[in-house]
Amino acid sequence: MQRAQAEASVTQPVYVDHFATTPLDPRVFEAMVPFYNADFGNPSSDGHIFGQRARQAVEGARDTVRQAVGGSPDSGVIFTGGATESNNLAIRGTADFEGDRRKHFVVSSVEHKSVLEPMRWLANNGRTVSVVPVDANGIVDLQTLERTITPETALVSVMAVNNETGAVQPIREIGAIAKERGVRFHCDATQGAGKVPLNMVEFGIDYLSLSAHKIYGPKGIGALCTAVAPKATELYPLTLGGGQEHGLRSGTLNVPGIVALAKALEIMLSEVAEEALRIRQLRDKLKEGILANVRGVSLNGDSNLTIPGALNLSIDGVRSTALLARFQEIAISGAAACGGQSAKSHVLSAMGLDRHRIQSALRFCVGRFNTPEDIDAVVERVTKEVGWIRAQPTFGMSHSV
Ligand SMILES: *Cc1c(COP(=O)(O)O)cnc(C)c1O
Repeated sequence: MQRAQAEASVTQPVYVDHFATTPLDPRVFEAMVPFYNADFGNPSSDGHIFGQRARQAVEGARDTVRQAVGGSPDSGVIFTGGATESNNLAIRGTADFEGDRRKHFVVSSVEHKSVLEPMRWLANNGRTVSVVPVDANGIVDLQTLERTITPETALVSVMAVNNETGAVQPIREIGAIAKERGVRFHCDATQGAGKVPLNMVEFGIDYLSLSAHKIYGPKGIGALCTAVAPKATELYPLTLGGGQEHGLRSGTLNVPGIVALAKALEIMLSEVAEEALRIRQLRDKLKEGILANVRGVSLNGDSNLTIPGALNLSIDGVRSTALLARFQEIAISGAAACGGQSAKSHVLSAMGLDRHRIQSALRFCVGRFNTPEDIDAVVERVTKEVGWIRAQPTFGMSHSV
């Protein structure tokens, strides 16, 4: 025990859990700093230079975000406290707007909790929610989705990229279906921004959610982008107050956060090609390293259908909770961070995986600042600890309880 602790203290921690959050890029941090210092003004107080400077920064950031998601010049960007709030605003805001008119909602089975929970709330409050299944790779079944839409449907919500497997959804096709059927389309693009093509106009996306902390920006800032101008949007606000963001999100704007979200997106887009190549190589190195050193590994989903950094796999008979308890300095996770580490993954379950596969699932996501040495350290440690667990006299009994 003491030796293990001594070892841990000399090991550099390695972070390969970029689905949960990402480190702040120093360039993003640098862009935020002035708005904590000299340019601290409230953008709503634009009768003086302090407010004017803040407002200018916010409106510049709004343009950057609008362009980054392929919005039209009319499109709106409502800054929020993160993607959870953006998703709630799109879903509950639509339901409140519709009232007793259209009361049917369509959602995929692999959405983030911040989409599924508002949908569950609606289902418990007089609306009908249809959940569209996914295939073994976690990709939404388009035929079922199309069949599920009715004249009563108010909104279809499907994410761009899944936060457990990295599976890339066919959002262009979903947008086309929604347009043809005259139904609004909300896309939670939190994990897709700057990694997969996003174009609100071309893809027919009505609402698109973003979060800065998944793209090397700070926590607590996000946006809901709207295809039409905010004042023409068919949404009711969640928060009432001073009427900021065209009344759709009252509350003083988080100016440093807003500047940071725009900067983070700008960097993602300017470096996407180079970054994808580098991260894919590291992910492949990780995958091959584990496959070569650990027996009984099953891949959950197809790496060709995911974003470059993603890897989700199960190790035969080794519970992820038992494995992850063996180390703290290597950041990997079992299920999504938000459900708590012991929660059963609804995503892997929707992909048809059995209980043992789900209980032994590990979720990796390689990111911007990872090095080949990081990957070596992860492979080495996972190999060693799987070996330790499998060498225990009780091994083979624990996972059957
Ligand atoms: C992290 C995440 C969210 C929630 O974003 P917050 O900004 O942390 O509220 C929503 N959807 C997906 C797909 C995510 O990965």
